[in-house]
Formats: sequence, C-alpha cells, structure tokens
Amino acid sequence: MKTTILGLPNSYEFLIKKSVEGFWSGENKENEIIKAKHEVFSYNSDLQRKLDLQVENDFDIYDRLLRTAVNFSLTPKRFGEIKTLEDYLSIPRGKENAEASPMVKWFNTNYHVVQPEIEKLPELSAKWRLRGTDQNKKFALIGPQTLLAYSINKTNYSKEELFKKLSEEYVKLINQLPNKIIQLEEPSFLTEGIPKEYKSFLEKLNKKVHLHVYFGSVNEFADTLFDLPVEGFGLDFVEGEENLDLLKNFPEGKILIAGVINGRNVWKASEKTKRTLDKIISVIPKDRLYISPSSSLLHVPLNTKDEEQTNKDKFSFAEEKLVELEQIKKGTIKYSKLEFFEEKLPTKIFSRQRKNFWVSEILYPTTTIGSFPQTKEVRRMRTSFKEGKITNQQYEDFIKKQIKECITKQEELGLDVLVHGEFERNDMVQYFAENFEGFTAINGAVQSYGTRYVRPPVITSEIKRKNPVTLKWSKYAQSLTEKPVKGMLTGPVTMVQWSFPREDISREAQYYQVAKVLQEEFNDLVKAGIKHIQIDEPAIREGLPIDKSKREHYLHHSINAFRNVFCEAPDYAIIHSHMCFSEFPQIIEAIKKMNVDVLSIEDSKAKGKTANSLKEGGFPASIGLGVYDVHSPRIASVEEMVKIPLSLNLDPKKIWVNPDCGLKTRGEEAYKQLEKMMEAVKILREKLT
Ligand code: GLN
Ligand code: ZN
Repeated sequence: MKTTILGLPNSYEFLIKKSVEGFWSGENKENEIIKAKHEVFSYNSDLQRKLDLQVENDFDIYDRLLRTAVNFSLTPKRFGEIKTLEDYLSIPRGKENAEASPMVKWFNTNYHVVQPEIEKLPELSAKWRLRGTDQNKKFALIGPQTLLAYSINKTNYSKEELFKKLSEEYVKLINQLPNKIIQLEEPSFLTEGIPKEYKSFLEKLNKKVHLHVYFGSVNEFADTLFDLPVEGFGLDFVEGEENLDLLKNFPEGKILIAGVINGRNVWKASEKTKRTLDKIISVIPKDRLYISPSSSLLHVPLNTKDEEQTNKDKFSFAEEKLVELEQIKKGTIKYSKLEFFEEKLPTKIFSRQRKNFWVSEILYPTTTIGSFPQTKEVRRMRTSFKEGKITNQQYEDFIKKQIKECITKQEELGLDVLVHGEFERNDMVQYFAENFEGFTAINGAVQSYGTRYVRPPVITSEIKRKNPVTLKWSKYAQSLTEKPVKGMLTGPVTMVQWSFPREDISREAQYYQVAKVLQEEFNDLVKAGIKHIQIDEPAIREGLPIDKSKREHYLHHSINAFRNVFCEAPDYAIIHSHMCFSEFPQIIEAIKKMNVDVLSIEDSKAKGKTANSLKEGGFPASIGLGVYDVHSPRIASVEEMVKIPLSLNLDPKKIWVNPDCGLKTRGEEAYKQLEKMMEAVKILREKLT
C-alpha cells in the first residue's frame, strides 16, 4: 500500500495572498508574487516528503482552472494579450473597460473558480505553458472535459469540435512534461459523462495517467471508465460510497488511488475510514493500491498549529491528514470512534397556513439585501471588543450608532423596506455560529476564491440557542423609523453548507437542527413587531449533490428545513429570501416550494435572465431583481439599471429593485450606487404613471 495526495492549499503563511494584494495596492512588485509562489511550493514539497507519490502543479496564485485555461490561450480578447502577471490577474479582477470573468462554485464546494471564456480555438501557449520540475512527481492537471464543462463557449464551434482541438493541445502539453505520471482530474465526468473521443485522446499520451473522478461515485459510467487506457483510477470513497460496490469489476492489473480520508472535512480519520479501507483491501491487492484524501486538501485549512488543544485533539487539517495517511500505511493509526446515528428526519411537511403570497402596494418596491459597508472603523471596534479593550456597553452603543446612521441614510435615499445593516456581523454564518451552541470556531482558513479566505466553523454537537441573537438590533432599528425594517437570518442549509458538518449524523438532520433554533429567533422577531423577515439561503443550489440520485432527497429536506423556520408565522408576516452565485434552472421546482413572498436573486451579470427563467418556470411570488453588481466599485448607469426590470414581463408590484447582494465589501461608493438605483426606480415608476 502506498500513499499520495491530490493537492494542498496555497495558504502557507498567506504569502501568496499578501503578495498579490500588495501588488494590487502598489506596495510590492510582481517578483514578490513569484517569490511567494516558490516559497509555498517548497513548503508544500517538504510536507510531502514521506509520501510515496508526490504531486506538483496542484495550486496556483489565484485559481488553477484559470491558470489551466491561460495555458491553452483561452483568455477573453477584452484583456488584450496576457503578457504579465498583472494581465493574468486582471482576468478575475476586471480592469477599465474590461469586465471580470465570472466566478462560479466548484461543484458542490464553497470554492469559486474563474470561468474560462472561449472566444477562439484553444492553443498551447508558449509563454504560459505549465511546467513540471521533477520526473518523479506526478503532475496534477484539470482534464479537458472538466475545463470545457466550466467554460463559457462564445464561439460557433460545437462542444465536440472544441474537445477535439483542446485534447490535441493537452497531448502536446502532457507529452513534453518531464513527469512520468499525470494526475488527470475529471470530476465533470459525474455531471457530463465521458466524451466518445476520450479513449483516443488518452491513447496519444506517452505518460502514465492516473485518472481521478472525485465528489461522487462513478457507477453510472463505470464500464466506460474502467475501459479507458490508463495506469490507474482515482476514486472518491467518501462522497462516493457506492464506489465500493464497483470494486468487484475493477480492471485487473490497474492501480487504484483510493480516496479514503475526507478531503473536505476536518474530522480525524475514524472507524468509518477503517471499514472502507478494509473493504477495499479485501478486493484490491496491496501492491496496486494507493490511499489518499478524497479530493484536494484545498478545502481544509493548512494545519492545526493555531488551534486550541481540544481542537487539535479532534480535528485534522491538511498537514495532519498527511500524517494520518502515513500512519494508516504503517498500521499505527488510532482511528477515532464514530457511531453514525440514523437520526429520523421529520416526515411532516412544514408549511405555513397562508395560501396566497403577499404583494406590495408600491410599484417597483425597493430594498437592499442586508449588509451595509463594513468600514475599517466597524472592524476595528469589533476587534477591540473581542480583545476586551472596550466594554460590551461601549460596543453596543457603537453598533447602535451605526444602525442609526444607516437608517437615516436609507430614509434619505427613499428606500421602501429598510435593513439594520448587519454591522454586528463579521460573516453571516460565523456570526450565528458564534451565538448558537453546537458550533466550534477555528482559526485555520480555507481559500474561498483568489485571495479571499474564510474560517468555516465546525458543527460539533447539537445546535441550541442560548439567547435571542438578532432581536435587539432589529428592534432597535425598527424603533427609529416608520418604514418597515427587515429582520435578517441566515438559513439552515447555508449555515451547514458553509460550516464543516458533523460526520456522525446526516447533513439533513443538521439542517433541521439549525432550522429549529432559527424558528425560535424568527418567532421572537415577529413578536417584536418585525413584519418583513429575510432568510438568506445563498447556498441551496451549491449544496445540490453531484450524484443525481441523491438530489431529490436533498432538495426535499433542504426546502422543508427552510420552511420549518417560518411555519408558525402569522399571516401578516412577510417572508423574503436571497440567493446568489448560482445557476437556478435546475432547481426551479424546488425554489417554487420555498413559499417565500419575495425572492431576491443575484442577477445583474446575467442581465435578468435568471428572473425571466424563474418567471417562465411559474414562480408565483415577487422577485427581487439585483440591478447592479455589488462586487465592483463601478457605478452602473441608470440606463443599465432600468433595463433589467423592463425586460421582465411581470406586475411591477411584484418586481423589487435592489442591489444584487449585500453591500458589506463596498466602500463609500455604495451610497452613490444606491442613489443611482433610486433614480432608476423613479424613471421606472414615471413610465407607468
Ligand atoms: N444578508 C446578507 C448580506 O447582505 C446576504 C449575503 C449573501 O448573500 N451572501 O450580507
Ligand atoms: Zn448574495
């Protein structure tokens, strides 16, 4: 039995993040980024010393998919020739007159990739060709099928034509690498299947290929897969437990790289890992077996060195997982006890009594998504409070002052439904996690996209609410104005999806646990006179299982748990929800069942397409249209902003106008952007009267 991994995080000492951000702000030069990359490379190489098969090209300074696309010259024309690192980094960031390439979630993870935009046939780039350094390391490469699956095709070439040309360029790249083994990653086989020409593509390679399909089980296409001419197959036995049943048909003489350790969660290897491994060993001869994490370790923090001792005892991050692999191989590992409780999921359908959806009396009603700019001052005060430098009272007074100013500004702007601004929240999940029992905070960070990292909490026990969490802020905000103030909760699915969940009960059981405590919070808000309540669920779409056979179960329980939050609401309570970063068409039926009065969706980049497809799909309630992109400081024109609502053939009372997401990451320009939005609304309303 041998050991290997698929990849490591790029987060060592945040050297890459600091150098890239420093470069953007003009503090350092490009060569600092290159230096940082080298340092991370050598640190990560060092970590792999004990592995039987080490990996390279497994991380990038920004995003591996982007880097792979650039390697094949798949860069949008609007950025010109990509000569420097600055040019390279401008693709995800955007620059004057060139909108950034869109980002999407990488399968059902919380990591975002930059979408390649195909405007011409791919061609291996001389300047950006990916290079290997060591023949004995395997070279990690996102495969052509997955690259294409994530790309936006702006040409007239068919997918087949693109695959043909792209795979030829892959052959050129791979055959001139020094590495003897290629780790070819094709998770998109799960969603798109295996192209007919894949076999002939592989036949042209003069390397040993380890073909990896992770994030699910390959049972739907196992026969075709196992027939492919490669040295080995990498399978995921954590998210694809069904892969175990396929092993009896595993092709004779091939290598199995078995993902047995969870690459996406922080729990130590448990007795469950042992059971999986035992089954594998009973079928696959040890001399043909590698053990590895189920996916790249990009999805967990680097190491537990900054964690408290009790957390060090429980959790295993990337570096600790490497040690575990070594110990499994040597037989010295102590597996943690894990008993899986088949917690009964509610059979009850949670649903409120009210049959009709509430509709505003205002034409094109306006609101925002919740957060207002988190200024340096807000963050400084929060740090001071956490460090005990200011008292609870001082901190609360400060937050109240922010809320008051925020309400005044919204009244001046003329918005219809106000928000309190979320100044008390560091992050929409973290804040609730800190205030509920059952979540454990960690210090380790995980890359979310580019230079952004998040610290997902870990769900460690049953979730309970000690005290009301948002009540005092919402009440205070409402006391300052005659206009309605929206209460603001993070939904149950998003809470779990953006945390590291427990492994001893199902995810679905955890949704219901969170929903129950959110229901207490919801009921408190209603009692306090808050009529509009928004329950954010940006992560529902992202949590959709890759495995199609598991989707119905997931959607049923995620939507049911969501509705559990407000199933006791009196008729006068108005439910809003917000979703972003998603492609909704696949889950439209589920969205309709959410039973919300107003759904706001991030839609400015898609220019209203999503809203239209929602409407076409028979969505019965009001839609909040994100009329401008909050991720950019650019101030969109009034003309741009009126276009989207006008393109939607719906009763103007059912069309809400709002920014496409929270304003947290914006600066002062946020107010200018809102002013423009209100100008646009004025024009829209005048058109009607
Ligand atoms: N209410 C949250 C905010 O405005 C929603 C964030 C999100 O959609 N990710 O910040
Ligand atoms: Zn959003």
